[in-house]
Amino acid sequence: MLPPGSTIGVLGGGQLGRMIAMAASRLGYRTHVFATEPDAPAVQVAAAATIASFGDPAAVAGFAAAIDVATCEFENVPAAALRRVAAKRPVLPRPEILEIAQDRLREKNFLRSIGVATADFRDVADPDELAAAARELGRPAVLKTVRLGYDGKGQVLLGADTSPEDAWHRMGAAHGILEGFVDFACEISVIVARGSDGALAAYPAVENRHVNHILDTTIAPARIAPDIAAEATRIARHIAERLDLVGILAVEMFVTRSGAILVNELAARPHNSGHWTIDACLTSQFEQLVRAICGLPLGSTEHHADAVMTNLIGRDVARWRAALDEPNAKVHLYGKTRTRPGRKMGHITRLVPHGRAAP
Ligand code: AMP
Repeated sequence: MLPPGSTIGVLGGGQLGRMIAMAASRLGYRTHVFATEPDAPAVQVAAAATIASFGDPAAVAGFAAAIDVATCEFENVPAAALRRVAAKRPVLPRPEILEIAQDRLREKNFLRSIGVATADFRDVADPDELAAAARELGRPAVLKTVRLGYDGKGQVLLGADTSPEDAWHRMGAAHGILEGFVDFACEISVIVARGSDGALAAYPAVENRHVNHILDTTIAPARIAPDIAAEATRIARHIAERLDLVGILAVEMFVTRSGAILVNELAARPHNSGHWTIDACLTSQFEQLVRAICGLPLGSTEHHADAVMTNLIGRDVARWRAALDEPNAKVHLYGKTRTRPGRKMGHITRLVPHGRAAP
């Protein structure tokens, strides 16, 4: 066990790192953030920070020497930096897990290898392979970059008339994955934590609505049949076990119109669809991560309120003031000084405490 007073290293300076640091400090831990920007959201609340590029080996080595355990708040920490930290200190979840989640092909191949269903997919390396894959999978289909894609970046929908050359250039990467289009009834996610002793704790499945490929709203718990929710939880726990996870894992899934579950993506870190747990659960996803990587027992994932979480994206951030007047709304702002379209500036969680009727 890593006792309170120890230092947790967080790779990445965004809002997830900020909320990890806040949860860590409540349990008496210090946080040292590695970020590329001096005023990054996580840097503002951390005890210490290294401001450097992930490609700077001396800065990464100095960071590793200053911490007791490391975790990532950001999907695309370069593998070389991760390995450099891992050579000196435990990195949890393990770098091998992060490398699977960073690569959509490895991720889908891994999921298939452990018996988890995904959309049909093909590995495509040029416009000719893309054309052949589109003939096999049918249209519409979704072309995605294999690496460095998030929030729909590097994603192109191949409709009936889209030319493979055009789609390839719009994707803008040297390696792609073509996925069959899933005509889903809804999108859900399950967040699961696993301790170093193998203990598992899953949060209820939640329902996610995206606008412009960016998460807009999470409804917790998801309004799905109990057997589908139970199956989603079983899948998430199975993946965490097979990955030998220590830490936290978010599993994004599609529920098809026939009630089947297809896994879309894994994120081995706290997830935007778990922000509601801060205000509505006995243990937040951030505290759960701290507990898992420090070797503490996991906390209860029970929720004492239902919740609807709305992201404040770009200029939506101006809604924070009105939300403060709502008694059941909790406002979270990430300390970002510059607003950009598509940028996650904060979120609002609206609670319906159990035992009280919805407004
Ligand atoms: P991703 O970057 O894979 O998380 O995709 C972002 C969003 O695009 C998802 O949350 C879905 O709303 C949509 N999407 C991604 N893949 C597919 C697919 N194969 N079929 C239908 N919609 C998809």
